[in-house]
Amino acid sequence: AAEEGFEAEEVEGALEEASHGPLPVLAVVGRPNVGKSTLVNRILGRREAVVEDRPGVTRDRVTYEAEWAGRRFKVVDTGGWELDVLGMEASVAAQAEFAVEAADAVVFVVDAQVGATDTDEAVVRMLRKAGKPVVLCANKVDGPTGEADAAYLWGLGLGEPHPVSALHGRGTGDLLDVALDALPEAPEQTFGAGGVGGPRRVALIGRPNVGKSSLLNKVAKEDRVVVNEEAGTTRDPVDELIELAGRTWMFVDTAGIRRRVHLQEGADYYASLRTAAALEKAEVAVVLIDVTESISVQDLRIITMAVEAGRALVIAYNKWDNLDDERRFYLEREIERDLVQVRWAPRVNISARTGRHMEKLVPAIETALEGWETRVPTGKLNSFLGEIVAANPHPVRGGKQPRILFGTQAGVRPPRFVLFASGFLEAGYRRFIERRLREEFGFEGTPVHMSVRVRE
Ligand code: GDP
Ligand code: GDP
Repeated sequence: AAEEGFEAEEVEGALEEASHGPLPVLAVVGRPNVGKSTLVNRILGRREAVVEDRPGVTRDRVTYEAEWAGRRFKVVDTGGWELDVLGMEASVAAQAEFAVEAADAVVFVVDAQVGATDTDEAVVRMLRKAGKPVVLCANKVDGPTGEADAAYLWGLGLGEPHPVSALHGRGTGDLLDVALDALPEAPEQTFGAGGVGGPRRVALIGRPNVGKSSLLNKVAKEDRVVVNEEAGTTRDPVDELIELAGRTWMFVDTAGIRRRVHLQEGADYYASLRTAAALEKAEVAVVLIDVTESISVQDLRIITMAVEAGRALVIAYNKWDNLDDERRFYLEREIERDLVQVRWAPRVNISARTGRHMEKLVPAIETALEGWETRVPTGKLNSFLGEIVAANPHPVRGGKQPRILFGTQAGVRPPRFVLFASGFLEAGYRRFIERRLREEFGFEGTPVHMSVRVRE
C-alpha cells in the first residue's frame, strides 16, 4: 500500500537495495603493470585513478563496491603495491593468494603485449591450487591487431583468454559478463555457514606488532610453530577452530597472522590486503591496539576498514601489562579524541602476554555479535521515530521542514535502516537519529547503516 505518498514499489525497491546481504567478491590479480588498477577503475566506472598512487605508498583501500548489469559485487584490487620483500615471483603470488582466499571468483590479468612470463606462471600455479573460478583477461589489446597476442595466452591452460583494453574500455563489458557468470549469487562465505549454532567467525586484526599472533597463541593455549612457507609447499589451513568459553569459534585467516611473523618491516601491503581478506570472511573483527604506543593513523585506518566492511567490532587494548600511569593518561585522551566515532564498540583492556582479562574477550565478542544481529520490529521503530521527531523536529530550511514519515529496518548484520522523509535530512540530523537509535535499541559493537528516501 502507498504510505504517505510513497508508492509501494518505491518502498519495496528501497528495502531491497538496503537489505542486500554480503556481496560476492571478485579479485583482480596479476603482476605489476599489467593494468589491474586501470581495469578496476573501469569496473568501478570512474577515472579518479587508483593508478595515481605514488609508488612505495601503501594503499589501505583494497575492496570496492561495484555494480554491473544490475548486480552488485565487491572488487578486490591488488594493484599498486611495491614488491620489496620476497622478490617478484613470490611477492606477486603471495599477494594474489591473499586476495584469492577472500574471493568467490578471480580475474587474472596478463599483459598480452608482453605475453606470459615466469611470474604469470607462478600465479597460475597458485590459482590452480586455490580452485576458485578464474577468468583470464588478456589486457592491452588496444585494437584488432592485438587479438593474436591474446590467443597465445591459451597456453596458460586457464581456458579462453578474453581480449581487453582496460585503458580504452574495449572488451571490458564482455569480460565482466563472463566474470559475473562465474560469481555465485551470494558469496560462498555466507554467515553462519556452520548452521545454527555453528562457529562464529572472528578476525584478529591490527597493525604489525600489536600482538595478534601472541593473542592467537594465548587463546589457542599453545605456542604454535610458525611454518616456513617455501614456495610450493602446501598451505596451512587458513582458518582455525578454537574452543573458548565453552563454544567453538573460527579464527579466520590465522595462517596470515602467523605468516606475518616472517615478514620484515615494509611489508605493509600484505598487512592491508590481509586485513581486507580477513574482514571479508569474518563476522566480527577484534582490532588490537598497542597501548604502549600512540594510536596511529594506521590503527584508525584498520578500524575504518572494519566499520566500512560492516562487521561487528571489538577493540582490544593490548599490552596492558606494560602501561605506566603517564602513558595511560595520554591513552585515554587519544581514545577520547580519535575513537569517538566508534564509541559504540566494546572495549577490553588485555595482555596477550600475561593473560590479563582474557575472560572478557568472549563476552565482548558476543555483545558485538548481538548488536550486529539486532532487529527492531517496525511498529516499535516507528513509535520511537514518531516520539523523537515530535520532540526534536528537523530544523526549518528555506521555509520548509523535512519530516521523517516512517522508517523500517531493511536488514541485519549489520542493522540497516531506511527512513522515508518528506525532504532532505541534513547529516547532523541523521547523526542525531542514529545516536538516539543507539541509545534506545543498543547496537553495541555494530555499525548502523541508515539511508534516507525522499518523497519526490
Ligand atoms: P597494475 O600495476 O597492474 O595495477 O597496472 P596499472 O593499471 O597501473 O597499469 C600499468 C600501465 O599500463 C599504466 O601506464 C597504464 O596506463 C597501462 N595500461 C593499462 N591498461 C592498458 C591497456 O589496455 N592498454 C595499454 N596500451 N596500456 C594499458
Ligand atoms: P603481531 O605482529 O600483531 O602478530 O604481534 P606479535 O604477537 O608478534 O607481538 C609483537 C611483539 O609484542 C612481540 O615481541 C610480543 O612478545 C609483544 N607482545 C604481544 N602481546 C604483548 C603483551 O600483552 N604485553 C607485552 N608486554 N608485550 C606483548
